[in-house]
Amino acid sequence: MLDQNEVERLEAEAVNAAAVRQPLYAPRKKIFPKRASGNFRRFKWVVMAITLGIYYLTPWIRWDRGEFAPDQAVLVDLANRRFYFFFIEIWPQEFFYVAGLLVMAGLGLFLVTSTVGRAWCGYTCPQTVWVDLFLVVERAIEGDRNARIKLDNASWSAGKLAKRVVKHTTWLAIAVATGGAWIFYFADAPTLLVDFVTGHAVPEAYITVAVLTATTYVFGGLMREQVCTYMCPWPRIQAAMLDENSLTVTYNDWRGEPRSRHAKKAAAEGKIIGDCVDCNACVAVCPMGIDIRDGQQLECITCALCIDACDNVMDKIGKERGLISYATLSDYNANMAIATDGGAAAISPDRVRNDDGSLVGTIAHFHVRKIFRPRTFVYFGAWAAVGLVMLYALLVRDRIDINVLHDRNPQFVLLSDGSIRNGYTVKLLNMVPQQRIFTLELDGLPGGYMTIAETGAPESRVATVGVEPDRLRTLKVFVRLPAEAAAQGNQDFSFVVKDTGSSETDRYEATFVTPEN
Ligand code: SF4
Ligand code: SF4
Repeated sequence: MLDQNEVERLEAEAVNAAAVRQPLYAPRKKIFPKRASGNFRRFKWVVMAITLGIYYLTPWIRWDRGEFAPDQAVLVDLANRRFYFFFIEIWPQEFFYVAGLLVMAGLGLFLVTSTVGRAWCGYTCPQTVWVDLFLVVERAIEGDRNARIKLDNASWSAGKLAKRVVKHTTWLAIAVATGGAWIFYFADAPTLLVDFVTGHAVPEAYITVAVLTATTYVFGGLMREQVCTYMCPWPRIQAAMLDENSLTVTYNDWRGEPRSRHAKKAAAEGKIIGDCVDCNACVAVCPMGIDIRDGQQLECITCALCIDACDNVMDKIGKERGLISYATLSDYNANMAIATDGGAAAISPDRVRNDDGSLVGTIAHFHVRKIFRPRTFVYFGAWAAVGLVMLYALLVRDRIDINVLHDRNPQFVLLSDGSIRNGYTVKLLNMVPQQRIFTLELDGLPGGYMTIAETGAPESRVATVGVEPDRLRTLKVFVRLPAEAAAQGNQDFSFVVKDTGSSETDRYEATFVTPEN
């Protein structure tokens, strides 16, 4: 175990701290985050591997839908206006499912934020993940914090130039791969890859890759924390979703203050000091360039790397972990009240520790039951309700559809035998990737018969029609009513379409128009 005086002190200064807030339009102060190690860092590696893996590999997953539909598991088929997601196929008229998913994503974000603060920002936001990835490259080529600062301050040399060229080239390669992966979601990935590298892809593909390459490189490599601080609206919105029971990364100054770099000297002088040895390890690892000891800040993405850094320091000096921790405001306030004697005095670690140095039993700790509160129930209830409605709609949805348009001009034709004929454009939709045989039937309209121009079959009340896999078939249908039946005036009836291979059916209410209306 190290003495408090033996902890390494890092010359790290918060560049975004409230006390040194830069004016707008000031040149950016570079941040050189030190590599962190610990539980949260390991968790972030896992999340990073999963999210990047999903993004880059998903377009390459195959899903057999038969010979009439693409075999790419996730595909936005713009040419045929379809969205495929494994066994689900969404047609344009079913786009409300996608809207529902977006609503669920929004509500899920509210739920996560009200529970564990900005976990989205700290772990899964693409900006965070790609900046992390770019930092991995930077560290591998230029070294950790001190080496990077030294290199940055050094005058240009062949070595520095070589490192910078390798770094930016690798960043650009990642950026190209990122833009490249995106277009594979919109066409058959293996085919598009060959077309792309041989110069036969459509111009839109090259433009999309170029734009995404540029944004990934600039946002992830050059702008980094500035995107979160200045461009992203989420930090401004999320404050409304937090309450006193939301978890946020917190510096527990009730046990850390007064901080001291010279514990022995302070003890010799009879001063009471807290657990913070003012080593700046928490500042050095922060990718946002802030000092969490300044309190809650808009810039903090709650990545928890400062927790790892401080826990390592606490381990070294034999103190409990958690000087920086995930904590709720209500717990923090309760502990602060203990340390300050209800706010009547300055923080004194004496009040939070027993004589043997352990923390007093009245210290509040986070309990999982705090997650279950009205706000989170409302968010979860709304999220689950949308999900269940969508699931139900998905399970009972028809894969057959009929749409009918009555001829407008003329609305009816008087035939030589006195009967009346109406014309309709009937659209039959086969929404499965297999050929299907439908029957089209007149329901109602006694005495009425129909002929279908395309089939040439004799007049009947039921006709059989084949529809190609995953296609819409348009038919010109003439319905004829004898003179005596037509004398009753306009009549409502239905076109009914049925799949001969299943029980699926759909109907369209239509009107037969007569001169007697
Ligand atoms: S203060 Fe801590 S949690 Fe917040 S961004 Fe910096 S390292 Fe991450
Ligand atoms: S909070 Fe922890 S990591 Fe930060 S300066 Fe104090 S002891 Fe060091």
